[in-house]
Amino acid sequence: MTITMENQNEPKLKSIFLPFLSTSHIIPLVDMARLFALHGVDVTIVSTKHNSTIFQNSIDLDSSRGRSIRTHIIEFPAAKVGLPVGIESFSVNTPKEMTPKVYMGLFLLQPEIESLFETLQPDFIVTDMFFPWTADVATKLGFPRIMFHGASYLARSAVHSVELFTPHLKMESDTEKFVLPGLPDELEMTRLQIPDWLRSPNQYTELMKIIKESERKSFGSVFNSFYELESDYYDHYKKVMGTKSWGLGPVSLWANQDDSDKAARGYSKEEESEKKEEQEGWLKWLNSKTECSVLYVSFGSMNKFPYEQLVEIAHALEDSGHDFIWVVRKNEGNGESDDFLEEFEKKVKENGKGYLIWGWAPQLLILENPAIGGLVSHCGWNTVVESVNVGLPTVTWPLFAEHFFNEKLVVDVLKIGVPVGAKEWRNWNEFGSEVVKREEIGNAIRLMMEGGEEEVAMRKRVKKLSVEAKKAVQVGGSSYNNMVELIKELKEIKLARV
Ligand code: UDP
Repeated sequence: MTITMENQNEPKLKSIFLPFLSTSHIIPLVDMARLFALHGVDVTIVSTKHNSTIFQNSIDLDSSRGRSIRTHIIEFPAAKVGLPVGIESFSVNTPKEMTPKVYMGLFLLQPEIESLFETLQPDFIVTDMFFPWTADVATKLGFPRIMFHGASYLARSAVHSVELFTPHLKMESDTEKFVLPGLPDELEMTRLQIPDWLRSPNQYTELMKIIKESERKSFGSVFNSFYELESDYYDHYKKVMGTKSWGLGPVSLWANQDDSDKAARGYSKEEESEKKEEQEGWLKWLNSKTECSVLYVSFGSMNKFPYEQLVEIAHALEDSGHDFIWVVRKNEGNGESDDFLEEFEKKVKENGKGYLIWGWAPQLLILENPAIGGLVSHCGWNTVVESVNVGLPTVTWPLFAEHFFNEKLVVDVLKIGVPVGAKEWRNWNEFGSEVVKREEIGNAIRLMMEGGEEEVAMRKRVKKLSVEAKKAVQVGGSSYNNMVELIKELKEIKLARV
């Protein structure tokens, strides 16, 4: 693995990273910030107190390794927007009616963040796509803004295709298939599978337009992706957008090289020690399992399922005959669901078939355990990259955001996944009407775990990608070279300004 040492003769770059207020945007952008620090850049991450608990452990570890990295806390204006203390992100625990208030809080923080930029005088900033206003501020203050995309190049290219050609408007029904025009592959979707804001304009459509404009005004964009993973879409996206872009991934692989990093990721110090005993239990169990025999079932950081869906998943896992780890969340106030899950947990623990992990799991640690044989996943982009990184196939079960586009990459382009057959996009904080049946889940699991020649070929493909992922972040690899190139360009800009 690569450690890049700072060159003392070159000017030190000073940067600010501004992550959005949701776990799956915070985690990769913080990993990216940590990579810049690893490459000798001075890094300040701006965050609110509650959100910083997700990553402060990792920053403390890096700081103790002598890297120039810190968190600057800004206070979330909870009282001003009428939110209880601690609700300051878009997460699985944010009640739907509170989300506009979180947006409002973010809006109120804008002047404070702007004056922080003025005070700290960075050489460049890397800000999440959901802060489009930072492009104008950067221009005004005279330093480059780099935009962070939480998605894949394929997903961004697909969105561009739908916006430009509106193929869904030419269909007679919501379930009729159409090809996404102008893309490197013939990817088919239905109207029901594309996000609501692309189907028909709403407030979010406007926001996405502003984000796109801000991307064109920025110095460039960075993605948690690597060239060999989606090269055609990497090239396509840069061409259609006419902007610079750098894939710096897999950032999780690059930034979290030690077990201490992997275990610390996503937990506060208190949570980490609280979970220690529980972790010892399932880790011991996992270590006793044969290679490639256990399923890892998780639907990311933002999802909850209704009771009926939880029942179907539980039966599918039990009927599959495979051992499993299922990361699951309770629906507060639904006693029926809690009772069912608790009984299920007790039963599978007793018969040694599986473990339920409540809330948050150290995903990186689990995925690289040799006992894990495949994922059942919602196709959140970070999880796709992490599964490729460890060379595991996936049963794809897209839910919201750009998951359905990511599924196209996994199933149709890379051929490293088996679809569960999800038909309906929904919002992250809604249940939707679709319940995927146990038979459908079971069939997909069977094809992934006992699929004969096709399974072997699929595993071969994903193992090859895993090798490419590791190469990408080593000296001379595509992401490594991108990082070096980007830092060089930023230093030239700094020198020109001086
Ligand atoms: N994650 C984790 N433990 C969990 C859930 C998620 O470590 O229990 C991490 C996962 O490794 C990934 C991120 O959180 O880096 C989730 O991002 P993704 O894009 O996969 O899904 P989202 O949360 O946006 O639905």
